Amino acid sequence: MSFPIDYEYPLFRPPSEANSIIFQVTSGCSWNNCKFCEMYKTKSFKIKNEEQIADEISRFKNLTNHPVKIFLADGDSFILSPKKLHKIIDNLNAAFPKIQRISAYALPKNINSKSIEELKLLREAGIKILYIGVESGDDELLRVINKGETYNSTLDALLKLKAAGIKSSVMFLNGLGGKKYTEQHAENSAKIITASQPDFFSTLVLSFPFGEEHYSSQLNGDYIRMSQTDLFKELYTMIDKSILESTIFRSDHASNYLILKGILSRDKDSMLEKLTKAINNDKDVRLREEWQRGL
Ligand code: SF4
Repeated sequence: MSFPIDYEYPLFRPPSEANSIIFQVTSGCSWNNCKFCEMYKTKSFKIKNEEQIADEISRFKNLTNHPVKIFLADGDSFILSPKKLHKIIDNLNAAFPKIQRISAYALPKNINSKSIEELKLLREAGIKILYIGVESGDDELLRVINKGETYNSTLDALLKLKAAGIKSSVMFLNGLGGKKYTEQHAENSAKIITASQPDFFSTLVLSFPFGEEHYSSQLNGDYIRMSQTDLFKELYTMIDKSILESTIFRSDHASNYLILKGILSRDKDSMLEKLTKAINNDKDVRLREEWQRGL
């Protein structure tokens, strides 16, 4: 029997959804304009046909009815209206009675277009966590990279999720604005993290799939390269200035030089100590092997 889900590649999911079944209910990203992002540049945004989604769910049920975690791809499937989302979720719940959580990537504008009441009903139906690429809390940098969001639009969305009881996992990009924007990027990112108290906070290091020159040209030549130490310093400020109650922090993505994990209210000092050692090039600090070799 062929695989029941007809994926349109490339397909992405957050690292913590590694064990989830992915249903691709939209394809691409409805915004697709961020200057640093090449994830969905080869795709035009589409909403999958409802009959096709229902058919894939029912064919998947013939393989197993045991999935407990479902991820709705692609880049912002939360753009779907509450009505469409409920239809998909109801189908999933009927087919897979053991589901514990359904998750998706979301843009702040996808969340802000829904009322708190609508978000609560989606949480009750099964949406338990949303992944939001905040990237930065700095309005100037958000404008430069053409994120299509602001400090306020993002904060409103995160607070709405909290009010509705949906968990938030927010991602920031270490090195996003290069040396020119590093201080304001770190300070304002810490400010929005503190104001929103997300459940999960992670950082990735900016990468250049089409080369540094290409990225710099996207930023009108305004990108000034950051050294590994500059990146550690930026991350230090972001963590140091974030005042959090129970947020779980992770910088364990393949792009991170230094693996840091912990609960920020409890482990902040030890994380900052590790970062200080990394900044001072202390031999006690272990960087990922590929970075130690300078690859
Ligand atoms: S919103 Fe996310 S997926 Fe879409 S272009 Fe920006 S970073 Fe990429």
